[in-house]
Amino acid sequence: MVCTSFIIKVTSRCNLNCSYCYMFNKGDTTFQSKPKIMLRETAILALNKIYSYSMKHKISEIDVVLHGGEPLLSGKEWVSWFLEKSEELKPANLRVAYCIQTNGTLLDNEWISIFKSRSVNIGISLDGEREIHDQNRIDHNGNGSYEKVTKGIDLLLKSGYKKWGVLVVADPEISGEDVYNHLLDLGVKNMDFLWPSYNHDNPPKKSEKSLAEYYISVFKAWYSDKNVEINIRWFSNVIRLLLSGNSRLDCVGPVPLNQVVIETDGSIEPADMLRTCRDGLTRLSLNVLENNIDELIQTDLFQKCLQNQELLPLNCKSCSIYKVCGGGYMADRWKTETGFSNSSVHCADLYDVITYIRYQVVEDLNDSNIKYQIIQE
Ligand code: SF4
Repeated sequence: MVCTSFIIKVTSRCNLNCSYCYMFNKGDTTFQSKPKIMLRETAILALNKIYSYSMKHKISEIDVVLHGGEPLLSGKEWVSWFLEKSEELKPANLRVAYCIQTNGTLLDNEWISIFKSRSVNIGISLDGEREIHDQNRIDHNGNGSYEKVTKGIDLLLKSGYKKWGVLVVADPEISGEDVYNHLLDLGVKNMDFLWPSYNHDNPPKKSEKSLAEYYISVFKAWYSDKNVEINIRWFSNVIRLLLSGNSRLDCVGPVPLNQVVIETDGSIEPADMLRTCRDGLTRLSLNVLENNIDELIQTDLFQKCLQNQELLPLNCKSCSIYKVCGGGYMADRWKTETGFSNSSVHCADLYDVITYIRYQVVEDLNDSNIKYQIIQE
């Protein structure tokens, strides 16, 4: 099994201080000891390691994701240089899809031109209407960021650039349908609703409303719109799995977690979200200065990521929606005593949402054989 997704931590700091941020506010303090911006020498080493790994394993296509903190804090010159250097160093037969995950507050036309020039896919974080978004997504002085983010979205719409979308962190206390409608009003076509990051040591607060209600209300609105221009990534992947296709996400389906992260100081680590489990869990003393990507893959933690499905308990393996759910995202399965050998902390909600989608999709299938096949699975 090979890794095709490489996350480059361009910056280790952020101009926002979101209450739920897994980088800064979920117990992991790794960021304090890292350089604020990745040195160019480190970036070159990182790119060389990624490309030699890709050549060695005969990989034809990879994702390189610029991440942070807030990656735009590294500045336009740095990002332009990085994209150019990457193109210069990459093997001719390797296709690289570039992505950037930003809070959107610093976007301007110059940034958009830089991303357009290399077809960079832009992911922007926005949680809904102003009052909702500004509850959590605040700067270091406590000011909301909605105004700045929506200005950035407006610039993207005016630019005509199409390769961008919005990521929302789901919140059971609010109406998912209202958030969905607000994104449509803003002109967003590609969106995703992320399951909030919790685990069995740190479970979500008890709430009158459930995450399942949130997701089902978004699904109902989206599915009844029947607008093929609007894509919600998590739902599309669930439907693809229901129709016996493959998941393209590492948070849905019985899939390995095979992301490689390179930190600003050159540390090589497994998927970022695992840092929410325990302070320092992802620190493996590997660095692009001395180590290569294969050495990360051989570590015990990375092997657990690749084989995370084998760790699942029997209740997942025998669950009627296991082939779609896959036990939930690996980080959400963590418990100190049992590690990742648990079903997701969101199990009940995942079950309700996926079961709901399954019956809606099955209802709509005309072919009774396919219908039968899906029901039997
Ligand atoms: S719904 Fe729960 S039991 Fe079923 S596969 Fe998902 S996490 Fe496991």
